[in-house]
Amino acid sequence: MTPEFALIDRYFNRPTHDPGVVLGIGDDCALIRSKLGVELAVSTDTLCSGTHFFPDADAEKLGYKALAVNLSDLAAMGATPRFVMLSLTLPSIQDAWLEAFSRGFFALAQRYNVALIGGNTTRGPLSISVTIFGELPAGQGLRRDAAKAGDDIWVSGALGAASLALLHHEAKITLPPNVFRAVEARRLLPTARVELGQALLGAANAAIDISDGLVADLGHVAERSNLQARITRDEVPMHAGLLNLRADQRDACALAGGDEYELCFTAADSARRQITMISEQLGVAVTRIGTMQKHTEGKNSVIVVDGAGQDITPSIRGFDHFQ
Ligand code: ADP
Ligand code: MG
Repeated sequence: MTPEFALIDRYFNRPTHDPGVVLGIGDDCALIRSKLGVELAVSTDTLCSGTHFFPDADAEKLGYKALAVNLSDLAAMGATPRFVMLSLTLPSIQDAWLEAFSRGFFALAQRYNVALIGGNTTRGPLSISVTIFGELPAGQGLRRDAAKAGDDIWVSGALGAASLALLHHEAKITLPPNVFRAVEARRLLPTARVELGQALLGAANAAIDISDGLVADLGHVAERSNLQARITRDEVPMHAGLLNLRADQRDACALAGGDEYELCFTAADSARRQITMISEQLGVAVTRIGTMQKHTEGKNSVIVVDGAGQDITPSIRGFDHFQ
């Protein structure tokens, strides 16, 4: 067996009893069986060394995160994760690294019952690409273009932790050790809101996961839906680690910080009770932060106002230097 096949066999070829996997790892293609009335939601995401993670990043956490960011894309459509493919570009074969990476990857894969059905392995600068397949009842996916005027805008969890950790790494800020540990854990081990996304099918109209920052990602929903999003800064849930920051830095992290993997979604106001119940059942906080409206306040797709209703969008946009 060549080293490449030995590597695949040793670290990634795990038996699956999933009846949807007709043929898994080992052939030219995997074969998957999908049911009538079910749509496949498909997404792919790459993590590159030096761009998405530090070159010395912990391999187990990388294995986890490479899958988590893809699960998050499925969550944002309300899809149920089923199958995954993994493309690895490695500078060399290092058993300790592969062992740790696959441990992190499969820990999360098992939790969501996703089967690894194939991939690719090549030599080169470290990069990890994951393609994920999920299932949706036909026609029910939470699309970006389906927000309605008058919808509430909601966000899950609390924002800003990952970018706060990054500010500390970049020595733009010095955090107390306990705060750094907490926000660094959010950056390295993000929670994909898979169960929330699934529960929102039929309750929410549109959704997106926050990977580039709340304002930027909500802007995609607004643009695709031909609407304007109006959010109140003081309603945006902020991670506790942000409490002692300067106000402008706090806003930068919570409103413009990426790598969050929380869901931002819109829903009719008649769905408020249902959404609150979903949140309580799942133990995932959700917060109402604004409203979708027709373009009534200029051209910006997202308007941010302060507690007094003053438009503070331009200053929020100006925080890009923290990125
Ligand atoms: P081919 O040359 O036909 O593209 P490969 O020799 O690259 O196939 O791969 C052999 C089998 O191993 C295929 O089923 C492929 O999907 C799988 N595979 C390759 N790399 C990985 C990986 N990192 N994780 C999981 N499966 C992999
Ligand atoms: Mg082939």
